[in-house]
Amino acid sequence: MGWVRTFRNNQFVALNDGSTNSNLQVVVELGKYDDEFLKRITTSASLKVTGNVLESLGKGQKLEVKATEIEILGHSDPEKYPLQPKKHSLEFLREIAHLRFRTNTFGAVFRVRHSLAFAVHKFFNEKGFVYLHTPIITASDAEGAGEMFRVTTLSLDNPKRQEDGSIDFSEDFFGRSTHLTVSGQLEGELGATAFGEIYTFGPTFRAENSNTARHLAEFWMIEPEMAFYDLEDNMNLAEEFIKYIIGYAIENNREDLEFLAQRLSDEEKSLPQDKRSEMDLMQKLEFVLTNNFERLTYTDAIDILKESNHNKKKKFQYPITGWGMDLQSEHERYLVEKHFKKPVILYNYPKEIKAFYMRQNEDGKTVAAMDILAPGIGEIVGGSQREERQDKLERRMREMHIPVEDMWWYLDTRRFGTVPHAGFGLGFERMVQFVTGMNNIRDVIAFPRTPKNAEF
Ligand code: ATP
Ligand code: MN
Repeated sequence: MGWVRTFRNNQFVALNDGSTNSNLQVVVELGKYDDEFLKRITTSASLKVTGNVLESLGKGQKLEVKATEIEILGHSDPEKYPLQPKKHSLEFLREIAHLRFRTNTFGAVFRVRHSLAFAVHKFFNEKGFVYLHTPIITASDAEGAGEMFRVTTLSLDNPKRQEDGSIDFSEDFFGRSTHLTVSGQLEGELGATAFGEIYTFGPTFRAENSNTARHLAEFWMIEPEMAFYDLEDNMNLAEEFIKYIIGYAIENNREDLEFLAQRLSDEEKSLPQDKRSEMDLMQKLEFVLTNNFERLTYTDAIDILKESNHNKKKKFQYPITGWGMDLQSEHERYLVEKHFKKPVILYNYPKEIKAFYMRQNEDGKTVAAMDILAPGIGEIVGGSQREERQDKLERRMREMHIPVEDMWWYLDTRRFGTVPHAGFGLGFERMVQFVTGMNNIRDVIAFPRTPKNAEF
């Protein structure tokens, strides 16, 4: 059983059941069916075929099914079916995202996505990590306030207000102000300080109005958190993890990856020579597997960027002003794609541009943070060793205006048997982009949520 991809010469049906891009050829006996019936075997009609599997005489397939019986399960009007057997643009396919799984490209992308997700669980399970489900609705606004989606059952027209005019959230469903989570990390730390090693893998939400090819409003994040790990252990785990899941996909999805590699090379043919990738997708993945990621401090990265010809010729939109500045994606991509030509781990960032929970280094200026940057994508992982010293953590929270009293539950981990610990967050869709070579993040999640778009 499957869906018709093509039907040629009233004789050969290319039938696809979604398990692979390789269709099964069904041979229809000439003269056995009337024209009315044959006319209804159209692209995307669903068929049930009974027959004998034989060695194929034709080119292009080893086996075929000689049909003894064909049942049309569902008709598909060829005048109305939007997916013709020809090349459609990815933009057009986004408008019919409910049908795009039926194309070769999206078939391949989503089978690879499945494998990567499976490999995530396999990796952590083999290491003895506990899969912790952290909440999706959260009352903690310690991170990313302003970038969060509000969750409420209050009336939008006339919510009850307090004397000062502000909305009275004590009347709201949870009796307080709540949002969709931007990260499960803080709860992840609670798990790590009991189980030792945990990971989360779930949806996260950011109401950031950034219309880029690598930001979604709803995306999936993997966040391991490990007790007794320092920053270096954290980097080692992240690198091992990335290599493991890529290796799993290469082993289990070779056919789909080779298809996607070909797709990418074809797409790049329309680009000028200097914009094309030096390696094809398969080579790039093998390269990442067999080479160490480059590790350097933020300080060294700033020096490299500052001294680069690119900077001296003023080719950066944001010039390198010096130590302390936040790196823009153009800077990250320069380091990864032009300078090192491989994945890069940057660490020890200025504390001013990083979150309150990151461990303060001895120099008083930097924190034990690390970002992993991937060619073509930019930041794929953000992580750090966490500040386990209660006094230092609280001081930093007050400096950064984090509501210390509301975070009593978080600080309890530092009060009762605190330990050095570390963790990171990997954006799952960015990983899928990297492995499939898809340029736009909207094409690696089934139903993308982006500003002004929540169709399907
Ligand atoms: P960026 O600078 O690219 O916006 P970030 O610094 O906001 O990333 P973190 O808060 O560290 O990212 O989140 C951890 C990881 O989640 C990132 O490394 C990235 O892989 C992924 N990520 C972050 N924001 C998004 C988004 N809007 N859509 C998809 N993935 C995201
Ligand atoms: Mn961001």
